[in-house]
Amino acid sequence: MKDTTVDSVPSFSSFGLHPDLLSSILATGYTTPTPIQAKALPVVMQGRDVMGAAQTGTGKTAAFSLPILHRLMPFATTSASPARHPVRALILTPTRELADQVGESVKLYCKNTPLRSAIVFGGVDIRAQRDELRRGCEILIATPGRLLDHIEQKNVSLSQVGILVLDEADRMLDMGFLPDLDRIVRQLPKQRQSLLFSATFSPEIRKLGNAFLNDPVSIEVAARNATADTVAQSAYAAEGDDKRAAVEHIVRSKKLSQVIVFTNTKVGASRLARHLERNGLKAESIHGDKSQIERMKVLEAFKADALEVLVATDVAARGLDVAGVPCVINYDLPFNAEDYVHRIGRTGRAGAKGEAIALVSAEESHLWDDIQKLIGSKMSLQKLDLPSTAQVQPSARAPRGRENHRERGHRTHKPQDEIFYKPYQPNTVAVAAKNKTTATQNGNGNKKRSVGVLLGGGRY
Ligand code: AMP
Repeated sequence: MKDTTVDSVPSFSSFGLHPDLLSSILATGYTTPTPIQAKALPVVMQGRDVMGAAQTGTGKTAAFSLPILHRLMPFATTSASPARHPVRALILTPTRELADQVGESVKLYCKNTPLRSAIVFGGVDIRAQRDELRRGCEILIATPGRLLDHIEQKNVSLSQVGILVLDEADRMLDMGFLPDLDRIVRQLPKQRQSLLFSATFSPEIRKLGNAFLNDPVSIEVAARNATADTVAQSAYAAEGDDKRAAVEHIVRSKKLSQVIVFTNTKVGASRLARHLERNGLKAESIHGDKSQIERMKVLEAFKADALEVLVATDVAARGLDVAGVPCVINYDLPFNAEDYVHRIGRTGRAGAKGEAIALVSAEESHLWDDIQKLIGSKMSLQKLDLPSTAQVQPSARAPRGRENHRERGHRTHKPQDEIFYKPYQPNTVAVAAKNKTTATQNGNGNKKRSVGVLLGGGRY
């Protein structure tokens, strides 16, 4: 594998991109290529395979889509015939949100060309996607499960795919998509260009690269933990219900209009959003149990500034491009220290200032140690002085539920909120471990599949 370095920052016009692509880039307002773009554009334009280490937020979507579109320009045609618009580039992503986001970027970049693109993912009606696929598209952005459904239904042929992109390949492996990837790649011509992007180059990713790539050029840009100096990080000691009060207090005292709060579980996300709502903040949750339509609606509301707080789990938030979030709060610390880096990557983007606040309970101190080790900094836990009103602030809208009982000292009283009656939902790590055991016990070869579905990345 060769490494590429870029000594001086080029401009977009220096790459020799097709003028119809250049014009849309400039209209989008990009002036200078990001480091991954500067490195990847020329290599991908030459047709080389690439193994790229870059996270969402670094500009990697344009880094691979612009040169791909450039390479497809000779095939661009205004013909209405579907036969003249076979799928030539396939971009696979682990989640619906990332597929949607990448797809929207591709549409933007090729808006001045006759090239057609389509996005397919699970959780929404398959028929509209089928009709679009049958009309033909040169660029297809898809999650693996739904793509396999379309292949089975013969809605799409991949026999003319000349370029394959595996985006966030590390997450695809985590979500158990390897068997699906294998099935899809077997449908593709052997002669093709392949690009793999991943946040890290773990041994598993290198193995995947060896299997799917041909003499790839290795491209790495600084990980976000090395460049996140625009994000001011702090941590507070907080236990149990004080964490909710802390979130309220932080949002109110800092007058935040858009903050993402991370929890580790879907139930935790729902509970926190309901609590904040009852206490007068505009809050919604986004997680794998919500339908695709619900998730998109919440996201749109958040982007449109109609929500103050978006409570999210890692999988739901992965890859979200919500620009200019001023603050990210880690309500639960992630079990995997790298997820902390992904989470705080939602703020401080493109040079803007951001703030990341962690709420750390005594039980989570070992996780906090892991995070500090990973990011190479030492942050002591501060004490959060919560005003008494923030600790117990029943809302006018609140039913005589949990908070009111708490106020009156009835801690053991049965809560009114139905979410508290829902069966316990273990965290994803525990579920993954359990599924692994079950799969082994059952002799089920596709043991990770159920985890992928559970995390919201499956077919539906
Ligand atoms: P990505 O890492 O591809 O998800 O991109 C993150 C964000 O950066 C998106 O909002 C892009 O529109 C934006 N972006 C990508 N390239 C550039 C650039 N060269 N200049 C400014 N913004 C960019």
